[in-house]
Amino acid sequence: MKIAVINSGSSSIKFQLFDMNTELVLASVLVEKIGEFSSSTIFKHNEKKVVITSVIDNHHEGLKNIIILLSQNNIIKDFSSLDAIGHRVVHGGEEFKKSTLIDEYVINKIRELIPLAPLHNPANLEGITISRKKAPFVKQIAVFDTAFHSTMPKEAYLYALDYEMYEKHKIRRYGFHGTSHSYVLKETAKIFKKSVDELNIITLHLGNGASACAIQNGKSIDTSMGFTPLEGLIMGTRSGDVDPAIIIYMQRELGMGVDEVDNLLNKKSGLLGICGSNDVRSIIESDSEKSKLALNMMIRRIKKYIGSYMALLGRVDAIVFTGGIGENSQYIRDKVLDNHLAGSIKILVINTDEELEIARECIKVLEK
Ligand code: AMP
Repeated sequence: MKIAVINSGSSSIKFQLFDMNTELVLASVLVEKIGEFSSSTIFKHNEKKVVITSVIDNHHEGLKNIIILLSQNNIIKDFSSLDAIGHRVVHGGEEFKKSTLIDEYVINKIRELIPLAPLHNPANLEGITISRKKAPFVKQIAVFDTAFHSTMPKEAYLYALDYEMYEKHKIRRYGFHGTSHSYVLKETAKIFKKSVDELNIITLHLGNGASACAIQNGKSIDTSMGFTPLEGLIMGTRSGDVDPAIIIYMQRELGMGVDEVDNLLNKKSGLLGICGSNDVRSIIESDSEKSKLALNMMIRRIKKYIGSYMALLGRVDAIVFTGGIGENSQYIRDKVLDNHLAGSIKILVINTDEELEIARECIKVLEK
């Protein structure tokens, strides 16, 4: 069974083709910097790696090039021979609690959710639209970053604002990185030789974007990202939690515009804001005071979330690290765990694989 996974971002397309009988990757293609002069396409197949630098004007061209590469290398002739195509969709709102077969209704709903994810959902939709044109008879499936967190109880997902803000405007916590939290949960269950619903764990997805999740009996009951991926942990360029009154102050007293504040919080804050870099590897190697401060701030915030999730969960079977930092940095893991957590809590490091999780979700949907 052949399943393709498409993660279409604003200026990139990540593509993977799986043989789902073995769960092996048959080919992967990364198209980057779409619409820029320095676009590149990186194609990998077995031991082969090809890097092509040519201007790619739009997603349509990017996907066309992917099909040409797959065909030239005799992997598949075109998309019509696929069993399904899975698409990453960042925001599923309250509508999508599970992965779903894409039809016009689903497309319209994803479009309606654009105000909640103005950067991501339009790019995801672009990938879906082009892919449906290229393979009109192949089943296309949307897998949502938010869906895993749809099990959060109301007391976890509501903000203590005027209730109308939720009822009328859907302002609530949604949570993100769900595909990754869900993948590492299932891998943890395999390691424990238990079913997921027997497990209480805390998952820490620590990459350039970062989030923590409290999982009780296999279900997300709380997560650090909220209405958008800005809330929670200190990230590469995002502030994570701040007093919301700071935003009012920046606008009222400092005369900053809405876009300026948005840009500051999302792109100029976090580790980058404190020490001038968002690359944790080089921050660890640097001995500047600000680098140390940035790391200490990040670590402290992770600890605070672990502590609060332990209080929520009661019993914790494992703390699971994943994402670029979580998987690779023993230093950060040790600092996060230094003064507590002895005893019965297992510490696991699991490499996340969001694309494989999306392909597995496709099979679940097809089996229905
Ligand atoms: P991701 O967004 O999941 O790709 O993670 C990117 C982050 O992982 C960057 O901050 C990298 O510096 C960090 N990272 C990758 N490898 C290492 C490593 N060996 N040690 C520390 N941080 C790393």
